[in-house]
Amino acid sequence: MSSLLIIEDDELLRDGLNAQLARVGHTVTTAADGETAQALMEKHRFDGVVLDLGLPRISGLDMLHWIRQRLPALPVLILTARDGIDDRVQGLNAGADDYLTKPFDMAELQARLAAMLRRARLPAFGGTLEVASNTTRRLRVDATLPQAWLGDEALELTQREWALLSLLVTHAGRVVSREDVLATWQSEPGDGVGVTSNALEVYIHRLRRKLIDSGLNIRNVRGLGYMLESTAA
Ligand code: CA
Repeated sequence: MSSLLIIEDDELLRDGLNAQLARVGHTVTTAADGETAQALMEKHRFDGVVLDLGLPRISGLDMLHWIRQRLPALPVLILTARDGIDDRVQGLNAGADDYLTKPFDMAELQARLAAMLRRARLPAFGGTLEVASNTTRRLRVDATLPQAWLGDEALELTQREWALLSLLVTHAGRVVSREDVLATWQSEPGDGVGVTSNALEVYIHRLRRKLIDSGLNIRNVRGLGYMLESTAA
């Protein structure tokens, strides 16, 4: 069960989506335009967004850019018109996770949404990832083990620290919001329950200490979240 935001100006389609997705157990919020959607997203945390690209005033693409600046990891599925191939390409380039062409089959939408939400809960990489920095103690992470190293030295990480680090690494150079970190923790069984923003600061602090001499820093981006970046930058 996920908390979804549907942004669609067509009332009939909006109500249909709302009813169908609520029936399979999602908590659904709807918005008929971008302004309403922005106000909702500033107040609430959603697990995923269904975004119509053909919206009045604030276009769907502008909405997508707005979402990506604030919530880089939030799963977004776009709905496009059948002849809107350019829209679809632009939408995927602008960071949409998936798309459906109208008219679409409700069962397909549900299947794609479920897959998108599942992917969002997993680390976005399978093998080993090395983060470039101007040092020999480079950070290397292996998502399958899971294990992280600085140079040849293995890092000792708790489950939460690992989840936090892998989220930052897969979004290196981009902002990860507090909401995204808390959502990642909450998707782990038996962990992440009742984690507050203050507790998150503690984990960030611990992780920073473990990354000393890695040539990397976790920067606090005021009002937005955290970003893993090279200290040389
Ligand atoms: Ca529309």
